[in-house]
Amino acid sequence: MVRVLFLGGLGRSGTTLLERLLGELPGVCPLGEVVHLWERDVAGDERCACGAHFSSCDFWQAVGEKAFGGWQHVDVWRVLALRHAVERTRHIPRLASVRMSQSHRLLVEEYADWYARLYEAAAVVSGAEVLVDSSKHAALAYCLRFAPSIDLRVVHVVRDSRGVAYSWTKTVRRPETDGLEEMTRYSPSRSALLWNAHNTALSVLHRCGVPVMRVRYESLLDSPSTVLSEISDFSGLDRGGMDFLHGGTAELGPCHSAAGNPMRFTVGPVPLRRDDAWRTALPGRQRRVVSALTAPLLGMYGYRGAR
Ligand SMILES: [Zn+2]
Repeated sequence: MVRVLFLGGLGRSGTTLLERLLGELPGVCPLGEVVHLWERDVAGDERCACGAHFSSCDFWQAVGEKAFGGWQHVDVWRVLALRHAVERTRHIPRLASVRMSQSHRLLVEEYADWYARLYEAAAVVSGAEVLVDSSKHAALAYCLRFAPSIDLRVVHVVRDSRGVAYSWTKTVRRPETDGLEEMTRYSPSRSALLWNAHNTALSVLHRCGVPVMRVRYESLLDSPSTVLSEISDFSGLDRGGMDFLHGGTAELGPCHSAAGNPMRFTVGPVPLRRDDAWRTALPGRQRRVVSALTAPLLGMYGYRGAR
């Protein structure tokens, strides 16, 4: 069994920061957003967080060799076709149902097996006890439970929907494409609806027998060592190894996180402060729209001013 800590939540909720912090703990290896690795790295040869292109990164080349006899043996288009067929948010009810058709189940199992092989190899190459996959997509978490060799544990990261919505309106470049592309942007109402869908799906995942722990972005920034200790317990890791946290900053070392938020390239001291810019920068009308659309879950997660 390979133990995988899957970070789930809507993008811009702090999953990359959490992955980087977890990656500093002894026995943990952060892999990045594996869901995007197939297309962006295996096919597109984008940059690993270590700075090297995927095809020149020793870590990922060793993983590919061990898992598949080399990445050239991975049929990326098959993986993407499987993803399209099974790993969609609208397919979650089917993925959660006990009455899935045999043919569909075979596709889900085949899809999950690509991840299982990658994880198993990454565990051997890194020597880590726990791998972190920050893919975020709830539908992928539902798929991964179909791989018998994956000891799947999900950390559901939630952040105030108004902060998430504001972040999705901003322009962010993708350094791994050498500045050629920008990250996707969404309107506040669109991100509010996505926030509802992803968080609802992750809030009921435990009913399928997957251990799920909910972490608020704001709590992580307010008391990082407490939250990381709780996640260590949840992951079966020994507590400790928090020396990289001091005086409100985290000292981040290099890693091989593949595909994901530009923050994965950051090395050195990072201030641990909540990004609450939305409180002044998100226009009142948009704030009211997001608050209204997300009110039930905002209230359930303990956020104020839901209405
Ligand atoms: Zn690398």
